[in-house]
Amino acid sequence: MKKKVFALASAIVIIAIMVITQQNTKGAAMGSGTADGFGGPGAITVNLTIKDGKITAATASGPKETPGIGSVAVEKMPAEMVARNSIIVDGVTGATISSTGILKAAEAALIAAGLNPEDFKGAGNAVVAEDKTYDADVAIIGAGGAGMIAAITAADAGKKVVLIEKQAMVGGNSVRASGGMNAAGTPEENSNTFTEEAGVEKTLKTAAEKWANHPVITALAEAVRKKWEAYKANPQGYFDCAELMQLDTLIGGHGINNPELVRTLAENTADAIAWLKTVNIDLTSVGAAGAASVKRIHRPLNEQKKVVSVGGYMVPRLEAACKSRSNITILMETTAKSIMTNEAGAVSGVIAESKGAKITVNAKAVVIASGGFGANLKMVARLKPELDGFMTTNAPGINGDGITMAQELGAAVVDMKQIQIHPTVQYDSSNLITEGLRGDGAILVNTEGKRFIDEVLARDVVSAAEIAQPNSFAYLIIDQKMVDESLLIQGYIAKGYSFKGDTYEALAKAINIPADAFTKTMNDWNGYVKARKDPEFGRTSFIEPLDKAPFYAIKVTPGIHHTMGGLKIDGRTRVLKGNGEAIPGLFAAGEVTGGVHGGNRLGGTAVSDFVVFGRIAGQEAAKF
Ligand code: ADP
Repeated sequence: MKKKVFALASAIVIIAIMVITQQNTKGAAMGSGTADGFGGPGAITVNLTIKDGKITAATASGPKETPGIGSVAVEKMPAEMVARNSIIVDGVTGATISSTGILKAAEAALIAAGLNPEDFKGAGNAVVAEDKTYDADVAIIGAGGAGMIAAITAADAGKKVVLIEKQAMVGGNSVRASGGMNAAGTPEENSNTFTEEAGVEKTLKTAAEKWANHPVITALAEAVRKKWEAYKANPQGYFDCAELMQLDTLIGGHGINNPELVRTLAENTADAIAWLKTVNIDLTSVGAAGAASVKRIHRPLNEQKKVVSVGGYMVPRLEAACKSRSNITILMETTAKSIMTNEAGAVSGVIAESKGAKITVNAKAVVIASGGFGANLKMVARLKPELDGFMTTNAPGINGDGITMAQELGAAVVDMKQIQIHPTVQYDSSNLITEGLRGDGAILVNTEGKRFIDEVLARDVVSAAEIAQPNSFAYLIIDQKMVDESLLIQGYIAKGYSFKGDTYEALAKAINIPADAFTKTMNDWNGYVKARKDPEFGRTSFIEPLDKAPFYAIKVTPGIHHTMGGLKIDGRTRVLKGNGEAIPGLFAAGEVTGGVHGGNRLGGTAVSDFVVFGRIAGQEAAKF
């Protein structure tokens, strides 16, 4: 009996809603709704106006969504809702949380307007895409760091450029770069008051002891030693030089890098730092980074003079520089599929696809700047089966497309099995937690509440140790002092990546690890910091004890980070065949290429790579 009454009541309510909906969809209605976004609970608001059953206006706001990622969804999706007369529009790949938030906020807005969201979930007026042809001097595949810089350089050489980007946002992996740019011999380096003697001496010692059979390393070490002796006799400014940067890059890369590319890289970084200023990019703060003999990583500062993430700073500026040049056309959400060639075997353009339409870009030269393949987990596992099942820090779309397209034209590849994993990737989001945290004093503990490695060893060593722990994850432990000093850490906390406890016991409870063991680990560690000696794991870098409450833990696991291998190029970024011949008109720059980093990329050198080689590719393509 009760059931029947309930059913009847429900039916009346449904009919009532339908009546209201029909009335409202004929008149005009406005509604505002909020939903959770990447920026936290209630971070996204959508306002909709509906007239005669049609969405006539839509706006969204989400000031806390990640710039260049979630912000793209906020900008793009409302306009599509109007165009399609449907709230079901394509989200932005890589911005799933923001995209879902916008959809939910739109549903809430419709309910607030007294309408039924289900009435606005149709396929709507599907956007009809048309085949199109563009004529350019230079076609560039991929609008990440290398692609945008190549575009600006070719455009400034007077060429007509078409830049093809498959995602709805520019920036690829470049926008995720959190550190800075390594550069040697810049005026910025002189802001450091002293040169770390120990760093240079240690590198020269390593070169002599471990690399005596490597002629390039030996010759570079000799050149550095001469300059270093002269500097010590008469110290002027800060000591660094292109030879020392080459030495660090080669030793760090296990000696298998292509020395010509390493030389080109190092010799052009200082000029690149100066050039970046012309596109409003100022990397003024010089600091220390892993495996560099001296302080060489150049980082941007915000208005409060605090260091900020290099990618988030550079990418919007590069995008603005591209957009301000009338001879650059950017085709977003357009995926390059193949590179065209003429009868003579020279490239003649790119065939791409956008929303089902065929896009043809005729061009005299093509630059491939499509990034690596770190998001193509199948390709990674095929090349290195032990990485099967790993997470990735890479942007969606970093699938090795450019490698495949060039291989179809006979391009050679190098070092394809050299895939870097990063030890601190946040467990749930697969977002990267910057290496700097460990450098600045954080430690890693396992689920038994114990440390297990010198946390500041090379990425591959720390990753391997982490994999060997129970369940292959660890917690990165920081204290309030570190939080106060770092905008980045504050960002991680705001994103919900951390667990918190007012005491070591409370934090142990929050992450479900044994409190006794964890407390002992923390007390022992704080003692090691004070004594500047770590008898357990031999760590030699100490900052401050982790003793200011509250304490925080971030769950981390290793993830695929950078693919060092890729297309074989020469110092002019020409793409080479197996026989060493260049493919006429084809150039490549950035993570799509191999040989620059050898077996291990140093932190801060991905940015140097895309800036230096992006510029060269732009110049060469313009000249071709
Ligand atoms: P780099 O640091 O070498 O510049 P990024 O990862 O920053 O590399 O940028 C590569 C860009 O190329 C990304 O924005 C990615 O979406 C884009 N991309 C990858 N494959 C294609 C493709 N087939 N067509 C167009 N763009 C592509």
